[in-house]
Amino acid sequence: MAKKKKKYQVIVNQEACKGCNLCVEFCKPEVLRTSENLNKMGYNYAEPVAGKDCNGCMICTLVCPDLVLEVYYE
Ligand code: SF4
Ligand code: SF4
Repeated sequence: MAKKKKKYQVIVNQEACKGCNLCVEFCKPEVLRTSENLNKMGYNYAEPVAGKDCNGCMICTLVCPDLVLEVYYE
Protein backbone atom coordinates (compact mmCIF):
# COMPACT_ATOMS: atom_id res chain seq x y z
CA MET A 1 0.00 0.00 0.00
CA ALA A 2 1.29 3.49 -0.88
CA LYS A 3 2.53 5.56 2.03
CA LYS A 4 0.42 8.62 2.74
CA LYS A 5 2.28 11.82 1.95
CA LYS A 6 2.72 14.16 4.89
CA LYS A 7 0.74 17.34 4.55
CA TYR A 8 2.16 20.48 6.09
CA GLN A 9 0.27 23.56 7.10
CA VAL A 10 1.64 26.98 8.01
CA ILE A 11 -0.25 29.12 10.50
CA VAL A 12 0.38 32.86 10.80
CA ASN A 13 -0.53 34.80 13.93
CA GLN A 14 -1.67 37.74 11.84
CA GLU A 15 -2.15 40.19 14.71
CA ALA A 16 1.44 39.67 15.89
CA CYS A 17 2.99 40.05 12.42
CA LYS A 18 5.01 43.20 11.69
CA GLY A 19 4.87 42.71 7.93
CA CYS A 20 8.65 42.64 7.53
CA ASN A 21 8.21 40.27 4.55
CA LEU A 22 11.17 38.04 5.44
CA CYS A 23 9.10 34.86 5.49
CA VAL A 24 7.55 35.77 2.13
CA GLU A 25 10.99 36.32 0.58
CA PHE A 26 12.46 33.09 1.95
CA CYS A 27 9.58 30.73 1.18
CA LYS A 28 10.72 29.02 -2.04
CA PRO A 29 7.37 27.42 -3.01
CA GLU A 30 5.72 30.86 -2.55
CA VAL A 31 3.28 29.57 0.03
CA LEU A 32 3.30 32.92 1.83
CA ARG A 33 2.36 36.34 0.56
CA THR A 34 1.80 39.80 1.98
CA SER A 35 -1.86 40.52 2.62
CA GLU A 36 -3.51 43.60 1.18
CA ASN A 37 -5.28 43.96 4.55
CA LEU A 38 -3.83 45.57 7.66
CA ASN A 39 -3.79 44.06 11.15
CA LYS A 40 -4.63 46.06 14.28
CA MET A 41 -1.05 47.38 14.46
CA GLY A 42 -1.39 48.75 10.94
CA TYR A 43 0.89 46.24 9.20
CA ASN A 44 0.25 44.24 6.03
CA TYR A 45 0.62 40.82 7.60
CA ALA A 46 1.86 37.61 5.98
CA GLU A 47 -0.72 35.03 4.97
CA PRO A 48 -0.73 31.57 3.33
CA VAL A 49 -1.76 31.41 -0.32
CA ALA A 50 -4.71 29.07 -0.96
CA GLY A 51 -3.81 26.07 -3.10
CA LYS A 52 -0.03 26.27 -2.52
CA ASP A 53 1.62 23.35 -0.74
CA CYS A 54 3.89 23.99 2.22
CA ASN A 55 6.83 21.53 2.15
CA GLY A 56 7.57 21.79 5.88
CA CYS A 57 11.07 23.22 5.42
CA MET A 58 10.54 25.48 8.48
CA ILE A 59 12.62 28.30 6.98
CA CYS A 60 9.84 30.81 7.59
CA THR A 61 9.86 29.98 11.30
CA LEU A 62 13.63 30.50 11.43
CA VAL A 63 13.70 33.88 9.69
CA CYS A 64 10.69 35.42 11.45
CA PRO A 65 12.06 37.80 14.10
CA ASP A 66 8.93 37.56 16.23
CA LEU A 67 8.10 33.81 16.17
CA VAL A 68 4.81 34.57 14.47
CA LEU A 69 4.66 31.41 12.33
CA GLU A 70 4.04 27.78 13.20
CA VAL A 71 4.19 24.77 10.89
CA TYR A 72 2.15 21.60 11.53
CA TYR A 73 1.84 18.32 9.71
CA GLU A 74 -0.86 15.69 9.63
S1 SF4 B 1 7.67 25.80 6.07
FE1 SF4 B 1 8.83 26.29 4.20
S2 SF4 B 1 7.39 25.92 2.52
FE2 SF4 B 1 6.17 26.04 4.40
S3 SF4 B 1 5.50 28.18 4.50
FE3 SF4 B 1 7.41 28.00 5.69
S4 SF4 B 1 9.08 28.53 4.26
FE4 SF4 B 1 7.21 28.09 3.06
S1 SF4 C 1 8.76 37.13 9.05
FE1 SF4 C 1 7.30 37.15 10.76
S2 SF4 C 1 6.93 39.34 11.20
FE2 SF4 C 1 7.89 39.19 9.16
S3 SF4 C 1 6.16 39.15 7.71
FE3 SF4 C 1 6.68 37.02 8.19
S4 SF4 C 1 5.34 36.43 9.90
FE4 SF4 C 1 5.34 38.66 9.75
